[in-house]
Amino acid sequence: MAARKVDHLLIGGGLACANCARWLREEGADGDILLVGREPDPPYNRPECSKGYLRGEESRQDASFRPAQWWGEQGIELLTRTSVTALDPENRVAKLSSKEEVQFGGALIATGANVRRLNVDGCDLEQIHYLRAFGNADAIRAGVADAEEVVLIGGSYIACEVAASLTLMGKHCTLLMQEQITLERGFGREAGAFFQGLLESHGVTVHSADELARFEGSGRVAKVISAGGLELPAQAVVIGAGVSPDVMLAQKAGLEIGERGGVRCSSRLQSSVPGIYAGGDICECESSVHDGAHVRIEHWDVAFNHGKTAALNMLGQDVPHEVVPYFYSVFADWGELEYVGPAYSWDREVLRGSMADGAFTNWYLQDGRVRGALTFGRSQDLDDARRLLREKRTLSDGDIAALGDLDSDLAALGSSGGGS
Ligand SMILES: Cc1cc2nc3c(=O)[nH]c(=O)nc-3n(C[C@H](O)[C@H](O)[C@H](O)COP(=O)(O)OP(=O)(O)OC[C@H]3O[C@@H](n4cnc5c(N)ncnc54)[C@H](O)[C@@H]3O)c2cc1C
Repeated sequence: MAARKVDHLLIGGGLACANCARWLREEGADGDILLVGREPDPPYNRPECSKGYLRGEESRQDASFRPAQWWGEQGIELLTRTSVTALDPENRVAKLSSKEEVQFGGALIATGANVRRLNVDGCDLEQIHYLRAFGNADAIRAGVADAEEVVLIGGSYIACEVAASLTLMGKHCTLLMQEQITLERGFGREAGAFFQGLLESHGVTVHSADELARFEGSGRVAKVISAGGLELPAQAVVIGAGVSPDVMLAQKAGLEIGERGGVRCSSRLQSSVPGIYAGGDICECESSVHDGAHVRIEHWDVAFNHGKTAALNMLGQDVPHEVVPYFYSVFADWGELEYVGPAYSWDREVLRGSMADGAFTNWYLQDGRVRGALTFGRSQDLDDARRLLREKRTLSDGDIAALGDLDSDLAALGSSGGGS
């Protein structure tokens, strides 16, 4: 028999659980809420780890989800430095690393993701870093203090953002990636080339279509050797080779795992076990924007909104998660990309505005339907992009041409305009 009982147990100290706690209270939950998180800090905005916080421009407080006293004021019990080590869904009991057992009414599991580690020769040398948490950002900032050359491994947003941040801090950054073009996996060649050009124009050296073979150095890393034979000097390395959802606890508890490696959930974010919900990076839920397919998306805004939807459903409101997924990425003070979708495949891209002028929206269409939109310097297009994604209409040739015409009014497209 568990020693204590709570109404709502939130497992994971990230954004999904934090926002769930907030919405439980905002929607009138008056029972006990217990949030259990493994990290030493109260929930914070992880994206700052590659941006202002990494550069030392922001403090931990600036990046925190809510000020420290907020949790107590809300009557939410926050256990940091504590893991849930086992979950018994049948009896609704969780075991904590403190040896305490907690019986719960309902639970949200949002254990986030773990970085993919590259186990090559030399990977234990000093100043080889991964980036997921405040502590990693601190180690990188300290590690690059006396470095002139930093190598980033990876061609996606973590490597690009860190390259931009460290360049702003006066380091010469070199990016080594498997891709031909940075960010091409998510945004295609042309848009990817725009972002690569942005990095290069600020002095980042990019080596594409190659990969890490090993590290060399004595004690501390001194060189990165690529499979293609490059020898890149480096006094520090940051690896951004992707993440995998941390479903260990969920899997052990017998929750169903989906094809994308996450906790398979309904559109209400309920897992295969009634009363246990999942959110954020581990959540593989039915998505209305994606025609009911199960998707798993590792974005800040998605975790944030999952937290709210989970809270409403934990309170019995029976609401589907219908927020169009949104992503942003910041390249130091050079600009910010924003994206709605994601488009998992597309057969046509339509450009609105001009990449040369640094203000554009790139539309991704499949069979005449908008599946995603990437914007740089044109945030004003995002609401129409969201609407078009929700409407799921097949656009006429005229409407598709209008997407790319700066003189056309996007608000007139789709249901509010012609459309086919
Ligand atoms: C450096 C960096 C920059 C990013 N930048 C962007 C960006 O610009 N835009 C964007 O959209 N997204 C960005 N992201 C992604 C975004 O931060 C994540 O999608 C989001 O944080 C996911 O939230 P979450 O609540 O699912 O998981 P997390 O934030 O990972 O939180 C999960 C927490 O649960 C804890 N935990 C795990 N297992 C247990 C357990 N058994 N018991 C207790 N606690 C446990 C973990 O330690 C962790 O603290 C970035 C991520 C990183 C790392």
